[in-house]
Amino acid sequence: MLVLGIESTAHTFGVGITDGKSILANEKDTYKPKRGGIIPREAAEHHYKLAPEIINSALSKAGIKLKDIDIFAFSQGPGIYAPLKVSFQIAKFLSKKYNKKVIGVNHCIAHLEIARKETGFEDPVMLYVSGGNTQIITFADGYYRVFGETQDIGVGNLLDKFGRDMSISFPAGPEIEKYALKGKKYIPLPYSIKGMDVSLSGIQTFISKIKDKYSIEDLSFSLQETVFSMLVEASERALAYTEKESFVITGGVAANKRLNEMGKIMSESRGAKFKSIPMEYAGDNGAMIAYTAYLMRDEPDRDYLPKPIFRTDSVKINYR
Ligand code: AMP
Ligand code: MG
Repeated sequence: MLVLGIESTAHTFGVGITDGKSILANEKDTYKPKRGGIIPREAAEHHYKLAPEIINSALSKAGIKLKDIDIFAFSQGPGIYAPLKVSFQIAKFLSKKYNKKVIGVNHCIAHLEIARKETGFEDPVMLYVSGGNTQIITFADGYYRVFGETQDIGVGNLLDKFGRDMSISFPAGPEIEKYALKGKKYIPLPYSIKGMDVSLSGIQTFISKIKDKYSIEDLSFSLQETVFSMLVEASERALAYTEKESFVITGGVAANKRLNEMGKIMSESRGAKFKSIPMEYAGDNGAMIAYTAYLMRDEPDRDYLPKPIFRTDSVKINYR
């Protein structure tokens, strides 16, 4: 069985192909706004424009033709409506044309499933950190349950907003990581954690007011140390409470070495195993959509529509 998955919830247009065992192709391209944040219409135009080329290069990497595909999958949400509907329209069109099944995949769950596949951990506590999302999740009783989450913006968003303040281009995470390595002085920032939830937008407001007094290196270092500590602290609570034996970090911000180092130290000090998602699958990608649709292959046919708001814990998981 071959599944082609298309991702388009925000900045990235990605196409992945899987046979359920291996990822046969994972091609993508990311829209980068000239300045400021994502402009939905521009992101959608980027995706439409590049779609034929990216689909073709995924097919040739996998050495197959469109007619060989058994399921066409798309990222159903959550996401920004204009780019979100690109993957929906393409998957719907292809499924009609070739008379094949179509499956809509929850984008957050796709980040979790590709992490379980790539780390080999069956049942971990997962910290899912990306541009728009920040959640601490584990599976219980048919659903991915959210134990803790951001009460306002996602951690990637916080990093990107700080980046904009400092004239770093989007996505700012990798640049901030480099500056942070050269930081020497820790500047105390608001540490806002309530139970297992975190609040991040106050840190952004605070840092934008003090930024002229410090170097970009010290600001980056302090921002990373503060925010990642909050996330790892909340994750530790989830591990302690659920007594699960492994911890995984997934999503775009999982590319960050310092965050992974903290996750590893915390896990090992509790006797839990730790792994982070491989770089290739950290940010948004089509492979995770294809692979999750493969897991969902026995779901009855349904009329899937794009869902800009689509919570991780609203999806009944029938394959576990
Ligand atoms: P996603 O939405 O899952 O594609 O993740 C994109 C987010 O990951 C953006 O906000 C990036 O700034 C962030 N990101 C990417 N690489 C890194 C990194 N090395 N450290 C921190 N954040 C990162
Ligand atoms: Mg994502």
